[in-house]
Amino acid sequence: MKQIFSGVQPSGNFTLGNYIGAMKRFVDLQDEGNCIYSIVNLHSLTVPKEASELREYTLQLAAMYLSIGIDPKKSILFIQSQVPEHTELGWLMQCTGYIGELERMTQYKDKSEGKEVVTGGLLTYPALMAADILLYNATHVPVGEDQKQHLEFTRDMAARFNKKYGETFVIPEPMIQEFGGRIMSLDDPTKKMSKSSPNAGSYIALLDEPGVIVKKIKRAVTDSEGTVRYDKENKPAVSNLLTIYSACSGESIDAIVARYEGKGYGDFKKDLAEVVVDALTPIQEAYKNWINSPELTTILKDGAERAHAIASATMDKVRKNMGLVTF
Ligand code: ATP
Ligand code: MG
Repeated sequence: MKQIFSGVQPSGNFTLGNYIGAMKRFVDLQDEGNCIYSIVNLHSLTVPKEASELREYTLQLAAMYLSIGIDPKKSILFIQSQVPEHTELGWLMQCTGYIGELERMTQYKDKSEGKEVVTGGLLTYPALMAADILLYNATHVPVGEDQKQHLEFTRDMAARFNKKYGETFVIPEPMIQEFGGRIMSLDDPTKKMSKSSPNAGSYIALLDEPGVIVKKIKRAVTDSEGTVRYDKENKPAVSNLLTIYSACSGESIDAIVARYEGKGYGDFKKDLAEVVVDALTPIQEAYKNWINSPELTTILKDGAERAHAIASATMDKVRKNMGLVTF
């Protein structure tokens, strides 16, 4: 049986990139193994946040998980900070990893570049992420392509720890989609779409109104060729839009390309906006109910209790193997 763990940060407006690259698959995986999904709010603190903002995004993300189809009867859904073992193992992972390894991480380089203030947490983020995964004996971790390097780090930490202290952790496998694993920004196809981007035009948020989606897609950069075809190397922007089209409609890229033969980007973009709106409308409808539902906190409390039971058993083993004295 697969043991599946993944998390999303409550750090902004959840994007189509988060959905296509990771969250959409969380739903299907519920029938393939034991799924544990987290709202990783401690990770969001690596970039300074207002308390009110963090609180709001945390509940929004909980409602979003449920709106896309995460079923609390099948999966554990919880807030990371409600299970204190994450910070405890996070520290132990900081003491397992090396600064050189952490400094090589591209997310750290990207997110610290040009910033006046860079927190220590931004550098040690992968140690906390390793803890998140290893606490639950995860065998499989569905993530977007940008998290591949952090997953490698997690595997290295698990192996290093096991070698030094004896068999303790399961070594997890990343599950990264070849197609849709990296959705690019609408304004710059060399950058990945990110919910924390200061430019709202660079992403489609899952909660964007239809009119906003139409506008954002209309403004999305393309190229001067004028032909709708898939060529990631030479036509990254149009290829990205085709990927979004295919992921939202379920149609193959070939079928989509064939339909737009001899037509320009205008027609393509108009239909793409419709396809995206159609995919997001049922999620937005469900969200309206979940965000106001008193059940939300009950689900999260129950999830934290269930997660805590697994995490505390792992920590007992870790403390014993590491020589952290307990009575
Ligand atoms: P932030 O900018 O705050 O880091 P983010 O959009 O990168 O936000 P995360 O919470 O860091 O979102 O990541 C949640 C999941 O979404 C991860 O599995 C990540 O790999 C995936 N993901 C993020 N951006 C993309 C993208 N552009 N394409 C595909 N998957 C993505
Ligand atoms: Mg991210």
